[in-house]
Amino acid sequence: MKQRIIYMQMCFLLCLMLIHPVSAGQKLVIELDPGHGGYDGGATAEWFGDTVYEKKLNLAIAKYLKEELESYEGVEVKMTRTDDTYVSLDARTDKVEKDEADVMISLHNNASGAISDYDNGCTVLTSHGRYKEKLAQEGMKLGSQILEELSSVGPENQGILQRTSETGTTYKNGELADYYHIIKKGVEGDYTAIIVEHAFVDHGVDYKQYLRTDGALKRLAVADAKGIARYYGLHKKGESAMEPLVNVKEKITLVSNSNRTGSQISYETFYKTESDADTEGGYSGEQEKGIFSTLKSLWKRFLGGN
Ligand SMILES: [Zn+2]
Repeated sequence: MKQRIIYMQMCFLLCLMLIHPVSAGQKLVIELDPGHGGYDGGATAEWFGDTVYEKKLNLAIAKYLKEELESYEGVEVKMTRTDDTYVSLDARTDKVEKDEADVMISLHNNASGAISDYDNGCTVLTSHGRYKEKLAQEGMKLGSQILEELSSVGPENQGILQRTSETGTTYKNGELADYYHIIKKGVEGDYTAIIVEHAFVDHGVDYKQYLRTDGALKRLAVADAKGIARYYGLHKKGESAMEPLVNVKEKITLVSNSNRTGSQISYETFYKTESDADTEGGYSGEQEKGIFSTLKSLWKRFLGGN
C-alpha cells in the first residue's frame, strides 16, 4: 500500500513537472563565489594614495548580487565566503557540492597581465568544451547574457576566455583539462561553473567609473543578475520571465599557454533566431535542460525525503 501511494505521488509530481518545469516549489540554487579573501588580496592597484584590493570589490559585488538575485522568484543564493577570510579553492568547490547548487558563479576583477591582450573591460571564463561539450555550451550561453548586460552598464565586452591546463592534467577522455580549478571541478561534477571578471582594477577608466563607489559596484551586480535571470528565465514577483538576448556574437579566446603565444580567437553567436539556427545556441536546448535538471533535482529531493 505504501509503495502504491509513493508511486501515485511520483506520477503526480512528474505530471506537475511536465506542465511547469520550474514550479512545484523547485528552487534554483546559485553558489556565488567572491574570489580571494584574507591574506589573498587578489589583484591590487594604487589609486589616490590607497591600495585597492580585488578581494574587497569581489565581496561587495557578491553581496549586492545576492540581494538582487533574491528579488527574483524561486532562487536560493549561497556564498562561499561572506567576510574577509581566506577560503581555499577546494573548500569553495566542496561547498557547491554540499549546498547542492545548480551553478557556481565566481566573481572577480582583473589586472593586466600576460594571458590576455587587453587591459580593460569584462570577460567571462568558461570550460573549453573538449570534454562535456554541452556543459561548456551552457556556460558560454550564460556568459553571453552576463557579458551583454555588463557591457550595457559600461565595461567593454572582451568576450569569453578559455584556458587549457598547463601542467598536463587531463579529463577522463584524455583531453587537457581546464586550467582553472573552479571550472574544472564544475565539469567533473556536472554543473555549470563560470568566472566573471568585471573590470580591471589597474585601469584608470575601469576603476574610476565601474569600481570606485558602492553605487558603481551595485550597478555591476544588478547587470550580473539580469544576465543570470535571462539565461534561467527568472522573473520578479508580478513580472514576466526574463528572455535571453538573442543573436549575441561573442569573441572566444582560447589560451593554451601563459605567454599568449598560440592563443586562438574565434566568434560564436548565441541564441540565434534565424530559421536555420542550430538548437545548440537556441532557446529550445535551454528549455530542455531546464526540464531535465528540474527532474533530476526533484528526484534527488524526493528520495532524500525533503
Ligand atoms: Zn581574481
